This record gives sequence, structure tokens and C-alpha cells, in this order.
Amino acid sequence: MDSSSERQGPGLTTNLVHGDRAVGVEHGGIRKPIHTSVQYGFERVEDLIGVFQGTLKGAFNYARQGTPTTAALEAKLTRLEQGVGTICFSTGMAAITAVFFTLLRAGDHLVSSKFVFGNTNSLFGTLRRLGVEVTTVDACSADSVRAALRPNTRMVFVETIANPGTQVPDLEALGALCREQRLLYVVDNTITSPALFRPRSVGAGLVVQSLTKTIAGHGIALGGSVTDTGLFDWRDCPAIFEGYRGADPAQWGLTQLRKKGLRDMGAALSSEQAHQIAAGAETLALRVQRSSDTALRLAGFLEAHPAVARVLYPGLASHPQHERVRCWFKGGSWLLSFELRDAAQTLPVLNRLQLPIKATGLGDTRTLVIPVAPTIFWEAGPEVRADMGIGDSMVRVSVGIEEAEDLIADFAQALQG
Ligand SMILES: *Cc1c(COP(=O)(O)O)cnc(C)c1O
Repeated sequence: MDSSSERQGPGLTTNLVHGDRAVGVEHGGIRKPIHTSVQYGFERVEDLIGVFQGTLKGAFNYARQGTPTTAALEAKLTRLEQGVGTICFSTGMAAITAVFFTLLRAGDHLVSSKFVFGNTNSLFGTLRRLGVEVTTVDACSADSVRAALRPNTRMVFVETIANPGTQVPDLEALGALCREQRLLYVVDNTITSPALFRPRSVGAGLVVQSLTKTIAGHGIALGGSVTDTGLFDWRDCPAIFEGYRGADPAQWGLTQLRKKGLRDMGAALSSEQAHQIAAGAETLALRVQRSSDTALRLAGFLEAHPAVARVLYPGLASHPQHERVRCWFKGGSWLLSFELRDAAQTLPVLNRLQLPIKATGLGDTRTLVIPVAPTIFWEAGPEVRADMGIGDSMVRVSVGIEEAEDLIADFAQALQG
């Protein structure tokens, strides 16, 4: 983590709770209200024309391209990631789809970590059908990414901590590689969030987030975002349409994502959801610190338990990429996975758990558990599961904000049977 950039300006939570006032809230309200209007009117028709022709900046027009409420959330996320601009989408998958479908063309080549969110992996199938070449590699080694590069490679995609295997790519070396090869480096920061890590510090050009997870935290709103860190030179992206190659190349990526992604694909975040996400985000750092501390204690408890075969948690010294976590992240996150020695006991143990909820989902205030192979990675099939290191009895835990003692006691009784 680049500690000099850490010290610029106020801290993350100060920024979150006072950020709205920096852009001025109507009537002096101290929280941004929910703007539900779809259309925005103008006194002078010249201004309406100016919106369409891009000469009137910062004005709203039609809610599919943004509202004052989504814009306030975008400004918050830009400050959190120390970027130059952000675009919000209706879900994390919509944000990722916009990045791949608007910044890659048929014939381009994408290199991705093979340890990615299941639906992202599924999306690669659609991309391939449309003529984009996709290679997935073990990005824990930057050399495997380098070896996969082709003359038509345009983008490298990784997640900071992979779900459910918790692999951590060589984020720093990949940043250097992408800079050297002039490739767009896209980092999905969902599991770490800006509370633990800023991908900009390792050279990411774009940061994507599922806001649904720990940013909102409460599990009552879906959302996604793409932040431009300002580090990528958009003149190196041949996918940018001629009409969006304006005078300032710094704007090209965001313009294309907003027009071809948000506007044309239509997966807009509603003002109501943006408001819920912004309210949840205020406690981001508090929740992430708490759930990361608890996850470390729970991981330690499980690792020492005789019924447990292995625990995957990047905060544990036994984790293969623990050193990276210590250097780059402010904690090991709230995501862990484990396997029992007796695989046949997996479902009975899960059924005995009282507190963790048997549900899919991540980054919630409530602890969630799920057996991975028969659920979220079922459709992927046995080959993909084997390639991703997902054993048949792997259990994923998304640690919430409950007291650690309560969770550990519950796991203890469930494992005892
Ligand atoms: C959940 C998730 C997504 C997709 O987000 P949605 O908001 O559910 O569409 C993308 N990446 C990662 C790492 C995720 O955990």
C-alpha cells in the first residue's frame, strides 16, 4: 500500500460521512436526498441541446444515465478509491459486463485470473461467443500472466482475494507488467473494498466493485461500480469509439463506459438503491475491521480444530499468499473457506449451526455459510471446480459483525455434533 497516498486528505470514514456536504446538498440537508425524477428540464432549449452535444457538463438529462443521487454515490466512491471518476450500475455483474463489452472488441484478447467470481467466469463464455479471446491463468504468478500475453492482448483482469479459494494474485507485479505492456489492468476490489486496499496503489487502471457486498453491507440493495483511477492512458485502448476521442484522453474511458455501457446496455442503478448503498457505506471501515478481526479468530479456531482438514484464510500465517496480505492489505478480509476431514459430516455440521445463515451472498452484517461445490459452483461443473481448487466439501463463510465469541461457540458445538 502506498502510504503517502493514504495521508492525503481526510480518512476514509471522515470522507464518507462528510463527503456529501463537499458537493452541496439541497436546502442544507446533511444527507443527499433520493431524487426520483427520470427526466430533467431546462429553462433554455440551448441547454437541452448542450446536454446532448456534451457542451453542458454536469447536468442531468435522463435517469438511465444518472441522477443527482447516483452521482453523489459515484463521487463518494471516486474519493474512496482515490480515482478520477466512477460510474455506478444496477449490479456488480452489470459493471463487469460494461467493462468487458465496451472496452474489448471481437479479436481482442483478455487474460484473467482463473480464480474469479463464478458468474464472471460464466460471462467469459458469452464473451468468447462474440469473438473475444479469453485465457484464464493462475495470476498468483505474474509469470503465468506474462506467458499468456499475445499481440492482441488488451486487458488483464483479477480479483484482490478470490472467492471461495482466497487466492491473492501478484497484484503489484501485474501492475508493473500492465504498465510495461500498455494493457488495461482491471481489478475487482469487492472482497477487500477500499477499507482494506486501494487497487490504484498497485497500478490498476479500473477498479470494479459489487456494491451489493461489503460496501453497502446490509444486504438490502444491489449495485456495482467502475472507477477510473486515472493511471491508464486511454490512447492505448483501440476500442474507444472515434466520437468519444475528445480533446482530453483522460475522459475517454469514462465517456465510453457511460454511453456504451450504462446508457446503451441500460443496467442503471436506481436512486433508491444508491441511497441505501450510500447509507450502508458510512460504516464500511467499522464493519470491515470488525468482521476481519472476527474472521481471523474464527479461522484460527477452525485451523486448530481436529475435525477440520484445512482452512483458507489470507490472514493466517499458513496461507500461501499471507505475505502479500501483510504488505498490501489492512486485514485478511471477512471471507474464509474450510474443509472437514470427514467430508460426509459437512452438511450435518452446517445444519447444526445456529447463527450463520445458510445462504449465498457475501459481505453481509450477518454471517453466511454455503457448501460451494453443490451450489454456487454447481453449474461450472467438475472440471472448472478442479481447476479452481474447489474441493467437493469446501464450505465458504462470509463473516458478519456478530460477536466473535458467539460465532466460535456456535462452530464449536456444530463441529462436536
Ligand atoms: C458478488 C460479486 C460480483 C457480482 O456482484 P453482484 O452485485 O452480485 O452482481 C462480482 N465480483 C465479486 C468478487 C463478487 O463477490
